[in-house]
Amino acid sequence: MKRCFSFLCIGLFLILSGCGAPTVGDVGAVRQLFAMDTLMQITLYGAYQEEAAEAATAEINRLERLLSRTRSDSQISALNAHAGDGVSIPLDPATFELLSLAQDCTKETDHAFDMTIAPLMDAWGFGGQQYQVPSREELQSLLLLVDGEKLLLDPETSTGRLADPGMSIDLGAIAKGYTARRLLALLASYEIDSAKLELGGNITALGTRYDGQPWRIAVRDPKAADSYLCVLPLVDATASTSGGYERYFEQDGVTYHHIIDPATGFPADSGVLSVTVISADAVQNDAFSTALFIMGADQAVAFWQEHEGFEFILAKADGTVLVTEGLEEDLEFRGAENGYTCEIVRR
Ligand code: ADP
Ligand code: MG
Repeated sequence: MKRCFSFLCIGLFLILSGCGAPTVGDVGAVRQLFAMDTLMQITLYGAYQEEAAEAATAEINRLERLLSRTRSDSQISALNAHAGDGVSIPLDPATFELLSLAQDCTKETDHAFDMTIAPLMDAWGFGGQQYQVPSREELQSLLLLVDGEKLLLDPETSTGRLADPGMSIDLGAIAKGYTARRLLALLASYEIDSAKLELGGNITALGTRYDGQPWRIAVRDPKAADSYLCVLPLVDATASTSGGYERYFEQDGVTYHHIIDPATGFPADSGVLSVTVISADAVQNDAFSTALFIMGADQAVAFWQEHEGFEFILAKADGTVLVTEGLEEDLEFRGAENGYTCEIVRR
C-alpha cells in the first residue's frame, strides 16, 4: 500500500510538472486559413494571443483583397486593368509599400524576380486558365511586356500605374513574405514575442517556442513530399522555399512548372529542384527564393557572395545540396538516405 502510494505521488508529480508538456496557457492561439492560394497556419503565444490571432487573420484577408490579381476588385486588378491608359490608381499604404519593395527586388536580382511576369503566367495557364505550352513567337511578344521598372509609383500621391498596355502584375512570389512582415508588426502591438507563421512556402519564426527552445523547420525533399532534406532551428527569421514541384503540368512527357524565367519566357530550367532562403527579411527572402531558383546554382552562389544578410539551401537535380556556411553549424542534413550529398558553400 505504501509502495502504491509513492508510485501515485511520482505519477501525480509527473503530471503536474507536465514532463515538459505545455500547460493550458501554453497551447497558444492557432488559426488555419486558406488565403493567397495556399494553406496558412499561425501559432501565437502571449497574454493577448486570441486578440492577436483575430487581428492577424483579418490582416491576412485584408491583404489578399488588396493584392490578389484574380479578384476583380483588388488594387492589383485595378492597376492591371488600366495598364498603359495613363490612369493612376490610388494605393493603400500596404500595396504601395509592397510594390516598391518588389521593384527593389526586381532591380537587385537583375530581373530574375520580376513582378510583371503575369502575362507569361497567363500564357502558360498558371493564372487559372487551361494549362498549355505557348508558341515561341507568343512568348517572345509577351516578354516585351515584362519589365518591373515600368511600374510608375508616385510616393507624393501614393498612386501607381503600369506604363504599357498589356502589362500586368502578379505578386505570387512576394506577397506571402510581405504578409509575414505586416503580421510581425501587428503582433508586436499585441506584445506577442513567440510565434510561428506558416504562410505556404514561407515560414517565419518570431522569438523561440513557448518553452524557450528554438522553433524548428524541415526542408522537404523536392522529389518526395514525405522525406526531408534537412532540419534546422529558426529564431527571429524566415525560411522561404521555391520549388518546381509546387505547381506544374505535364505535356508530351515534359514537365512545366510555375516559376518562369523572365529571360526566356519558359519555366526556369536551371538544374535546380528547390531553393530555401533564410534571413530576417521576410519580403526579400520570398523574392530571392524565386530569383535564386531561376538563376541556377552558380549564379545563386555568386549572388550570395555579393549580398550580405541571407543564407540558402539549394537542391540541384544532380543530387547535390548546397548549404551556405552560415547554416553549417545548426543544420541537420537528412538527405543522405535519399541519395543527396551536402556541400558547404563559403564566401
Ligand atoms: P510559391 O508561391 O509556390 O511558394 P514562389 O515564391 O517561388 O513559390 O512563387 C511562385 C509564384 O511567383 C508563381 O506562382 C507566380 O505567381 C510568381 N512568379 C513566377 N515566376 C516569377 C518571376 N520570375 N518573378 C516573379 N514572380 C514570379
Ligand atoms: Mg518566392
